Amino acid sequence: MSTPFDPAAVVAAFIDAVAPYDPHPEAAPVAMVGVRTAMGEGVFPVSDHVIRAMCKALAAYRDPADRGTCVECGGRHLDENLHCQECGRLHGILGEVIAQHARRVAAEEAT
Ligand SMILES: [Zn+2]
Repeated sequence: MSTPFDPAAVVAAFIDAVAPYDPHPEAAPVAMVGVRTAMGEGVFPVSDHVIRAMCKALAAYRDPADRGTCVECGGRHLDENLHCQECGRLHGILGEVIAQHARRVAAEEAT
């Protein structure tokens, strides 16, 4: 999606894409969805079918920067190498090998 874009137009396009598959197109709208930005605005009365589709789309969204949660500190900011930005823990297969090695070294030092 290029920047700048008109969110109200995107909502209208979503409704246009989903509404033709509404099994009860004659039913009254059950929700009003409004969007107002500097690029434009729109208020859309939507059916049960369309609002459910919007909710499913929102629930399915994952931020591209969301790479999971750190098992060490619970931080939400892992970089593209699965390296925790908060505590430095490395995740993934390499991270697990390094963590095991660190535990072995710590155990040997403790004895
Ligand atoms: Zn962490």
